[in-house]
Amino acid sequence: MKKRIAIFGSTGSIGTQALDVMRSHPELFDAEVLTASSNVDLLITQALEFQPNAVVISDQSQYPKLRDALSQTDIKVFAGQDSLEQIVEMETIDLVIMAIVGFTALKPVLKTIELGKTLAIANKETFVVAGEIMMNSALKSNALILPVDSEHSAIYQCMNGETTRTIDKIILTASGGPFRGKDKAFLETIKAKDALKHPNWEMGAKITIDSASLMNKGFEMIEAKWLFGLQAEQIEVLVHPQSIIHSMVQFNDGSVKAQLGLPDMRLPIQYAMSWPNRIANDFPKMDFTKYPNLTFEQPDIATFPNIELARTAMIVGGNMPCIVNAANEIVVHAFLADQIGFNHMPELIEEAMAQIDFVRKPTLDDYFETDRLTRIKLLERIKTL
Ligand code: NAD
Ligand code: MG
Repeated sequence: MKKRIAIFGSTGSIGTQALDVMRSHPELFDAEVLTASSNVDLLITQALEFQPNAVVISDQSQYPKLRDALSQTDIKVFAGQDSLEQIVEMETIDLVIMAIVGFTALKPVLKTIELGKTLAIANKETFVVAGEIMMNSALKSNALILPVDSEHSAIYQCMNGETTRTIDKIILTASGGPFRGKDKAFLETIKAKDALKHPNWEMGAKITIDSASLMNKGFEMIEAKWLFGLQAEQIEVLVHPQSIIHSMVQFNDGSVKAQLGLPDMRLPIQYAMSWPNRIANDFPKMDFTKYPNLTFEQPDIATFPNIELARTAMIVGGNMPCIVNAANEIVVHAFLADQIGFNHMPELIEEAMAQIDFVRKPTLDDYFETDRLTRIKLLERIKTL
């Protein structure tokens, strides 16, 4: 039986790479659902190639174009943000790949977990905001959550045959991004186009900026906390510019397991898609002689305060990570539009952390409210700059 897969965000960096994996293993995978925000042309091309059961376009204004382009097929066509949540209920979906960026993925993520479906999740913002709710819900429904983020996939692979009890700590590796070794004065001068060039990975715009500002690593700490049931002090970040070791686990006997490979997101994507099996592929393979030096250094938290802001939010808990996430989504958007500078980003996030009302035990509604208020506040603040 082929695995029937729904890819949420099929037109993005992760989504298109998941389709690459599918393309190379037509005997194993079938596309059941594909969704996109507004890139209707690519969604049409993908739908015609993969012949899914259904497609969803979030941007309603693109619906007529999508419907007309697929009118000669039996592909069902839906539109609007709410359809994303509804489509998860399709009984023919065996695996949901969540590759939508940002907080907006939360509703379909929670629905997938609630229904007890298997979720291969690339989106990390949902863990940052509501990791506790997601993991508790998975306990109830027995849903399996498989990480796609390369660091978390690495840890998941290291944990094969181990138990959480014996983890001393995990070490999340970070490339350091395009501005490793630079100082704040240098960061003052950079523009979105400079930050969009990542040394090792090709990714969507938002995560590329998050990688340059190291917020990505901050978020990955919170993601790891929930996924692997860790305490804040068990989570370490180490800069490893070659991006060959994707992360490590140190056990209570001092033994360290690492997962290595070329920096190619198709590997963790494929691992989640084929889990519990490993499957062969023809992707380029590791040649250690090309990497004679694997190096490690501490992150520069004075120049890149985001890691510490995220760590604080992780320790404080409540709605604090939600505040950080919403503030970050707004400042990244503003930075990409050249409205604010690079160093403004952590400054504005820190302000939001101090100003938005803290909620110690938030409900799901509290998260939506915190997200809404933080966005409004920051958009107003950015206008004053
Ligand atoms: P991307 O911007 O390339 O793609 C995002 C996808 O989400 C697109 O298909 C887009 O149509 C869809 N989308 C965007 N806004 C939407 C909305 N409001 N409603 C519905 N759909 C919407 O992003 P990406 O780089 O593929 O990243 C996706 C997620 O995976 C992010 O959360 C990111 O942090 C995470 N991730 C990405 C990588 C990577 O290598 N790209 C690695 C690890 C984790
Ligand atoms: Mg990652």
